[in-house]
Parts: sequence; structure tokens; C-alpha cells
Amino acid sequence: AAGHELAPTTGATLVVGGTGYIGHFVAEAGLALGHALYVLVRTFGPLVCPSRAAIAAALREKGATILEGSVDDKNFMEKTLRDNNIHVVISAVGGESILDQLCLIDAIQAAGTVKLCLALAWQRFLPSEFGHDIDKANPVEPALSLYNRKRRVRRAVEAAGVPYTYICCNSIAGWPYHDNKHPSKAAPPLDRFVIYGDGSVRGSDIGKFTMRSAFDSRTVNRAVHFRPSCNCVSLNEMASLWERKIGRTLPRVRFTEEDLLAIAKENEIPASVVAALTHDIFILGCQSSYSVDGVKDVEVSCLYPDMAFRTLDDCFSDYISSLLPHQARETRPSAATATVDQMAVTPATA
Ligand code: NDP
Repeated sequence: AAGHELAPTTGATLVVGGTGYIGHFVAEAGLALGHALYVLVRTFGPLVCPSRAAIAAALREKGATILEGSVDDKNFMEKTLRDNNIHVVISAVGGESILDQLCLIDAIQAAGTVKLCLALAWQRFLPSEFGHDIDKANPVEPALSLYNRKRRVRRAVEAAGVPYTYICCNSIAGWPYHDNKHPSKAAPPLDRFVIYGDGSVRGSDIGKFTMRSAFDSRTVNRAVHFRPSCNCVSLNEMASLWERKIGRTLPRVRFTEEDLLAIAKENEIPASVVAALTHDIFILGCQSSYSVDGVKDVEVSCLYPDMAFRTLDDCFSDYISSLLPHQARETRPSAATATVDQMAVTPATA
């Protein structure tokens, strides 16, 4: 990597959404690298929700400057970028705020502090992506609408001539799920596995790899894909790995393509979005069905072979150590019950 990674000599980094699930990993990684870091929060002070306030306070304690405002306020963003000489903007706004970034792109263009420049090849904008390559994957609705919003942002960035990097980190949850509200809540199961389709179709160091990618001349105007071979496994392989960790076999229930499509069709947010994405991942294989060609796309473990990825095995070991002894005992099924069943699905209740 030597020679490609650039230490900023002037200018600062702004993280938008730094109190969010993904954004706080990115902000933490930026602070760990010693960057001059600004974090934009919509509300700071007594009115903000306690968990967000605690994250903002912790980031400030570690050296971040907290700014209060919203990315959909173009004049405020333009002034913020210019006044603070912001050269790198990393956005991790949530799914509902994706189009707010259109104002941010206008502000970046107007402020002129993030521009393509050979001498300062690390200047750039990283829009809120952190999932599949949205130009390659094609999920059913309602996930398609989310992708269309993210695609609109990509096209606006490209049309504005703002240098960019797209972070495509694929699945990041501890365990694949179709009905949870957020991946932060998804732990490996102790009672039974849900296998999508036949389970054969083939998450997290997001913060540190995002920060490294943001300051690397090889990633400008490219998508960075997180597909380290150590973590590319099918659902069946994941299930077997977890069984080896817990030392017993769990029953498997089959969730078919039709089951997932039925839940997606219910248009219940967020369950239907996650079902549509689960369908795209485990039935259509959207994470592995294309090659990373090196022209517009680059794979993160090839960029940074010196940096180890946290493996699934490591993650599962951590889950094991966090289990209480009785949890392991109480859920132990007999070998006879460890079979594959068809799961009865009622989309309306999923
Ligand atoms: P969260 O909802 O956890 O956090 C969003 C953050 O953005 C919050 O800090 C929120 O602040 C802030 N924000 C939202 N709108 C604005 C605005 N207009 N101005 C300033 N700040 C704003 O989001 P996630 O971390 O879950 O999602 C981030 C990205 O990651 C999304 O693109 C999402 O699709 C993707 N993702 C990918 C996953 C995967 O498995 N690959 C899993 C989860 C997310 P406030 O407190 O004010 O709301």
C-alpha cells in the first residue's frame, strides 16, 4: 500500500451520521488515525436521544469537533465545509435520509473544498452506501426503492464531478435475518437455524477500512468491495461453523424464495425491505455473482493485504464468550430433532 495512502497535510474530515450504527465506527476509526475530525449531528444537547447523545459525547471526548445541523440545509453545509476547510466528507445517514445527500452534493460543489486534484488525491466524498453494489444488485421492492434513491445520489455525485469512493461492505450483521429491525440486534441462533433457499449461495472492520479507503489514491472514483475470502461463506457453512462452536446440532427450518417474496410484498417497513435484501443475497446471490474488475471496482483485502479482517470464526468465538452458561444448556435439542423442516410462514405476521 505504500505510496498510495496519503496523509492529509491540510484540511479536515467531516463524518455525517457519526452517531449512527455505521457512522460511529467510521468516526472512531478516523479519531484512532489522528485525523482532524468533525462530526455533524442533527441535534446536540438535552433534546437528543440518550444513546445518540452518549455517542456524540464520547466522540467529542476523543477529540472530535461536534457540529450541529442537517445535511439537507445547503447554505449551512456550504459554510461548514468552507469555514472548516473540509476535504473529505463521509456520510453514513440512514436509509430514510438518503436523498438529503443531494443538498450535500450541491453544497460540496459550491464550497469547492472537495475536488479532484492530483496533488491532493485524497479529497473526496463517500456517500452513505455501506451495503451491496447498488448498480449491480437488483432486489425486489421495497428494497429496490432504497437502491433507486442511492443510485440517484451516485449519479448526482458523478454529474457534479465530485471525487468519490463507494464503500460496498455487503452483509455486516452477526447473523443473516429477514425480520429483525437492525443488524446490530442479529446474533447467531441457539434454538434453530433458518435457511433461506437451499442455503448454498455464498461483515466488521467497516470503520478502519473505510477510513483507509478514503485516503488512498487507488480508490478515487471507484467502488471498494468488501469480499475477503476468509468471510465468503454460504449459509450452510455458517451454520456448521456455529454448530462446531456451540458443540451441538440445531434443527434447520427452510425459508423458501416464495416465503421471502411474500413478506417483501407485504410492504411492511423494515421487515419487507430486509426480506427483499435477504432474497437478493441468499436466493439470487447478489454479493458474489459479479467479478471485481479493478477498473471501477477494487477489493479491499487486495488493497490492504497487511491488514487482517476479523473473521467469522472470531465473531462467533466472541458470541460464545458472551453467552450465559444456562443459555447453552436450555436450548440443547436432541439429535433426533435436528432436521430440516419447512417453515410455516404467515407474511402478515413476519
Ligand atoms: P442509523 O439510522 O443508525 O444512523 C443514521 C445517522 O445519520 C444518525 O446519526 C442520524 O442522526 C444521521 N442523520 C440522518 N439524517 C441526517 C441529516 N439529514 N443530517 C444529519 N444527520 C443525519 O443508520 P445506519 O448506520 O443503520 O445506516 C447507515 C448506512 O448504512 C445506510 O446507507 C444503510 O443503508 C447502510 N446499512 C447497511 C447495512 C448492511 O448490512 N450492509 C446495515 C445497516 C445499514 P439522528 O440522530 O439525527 O437521526
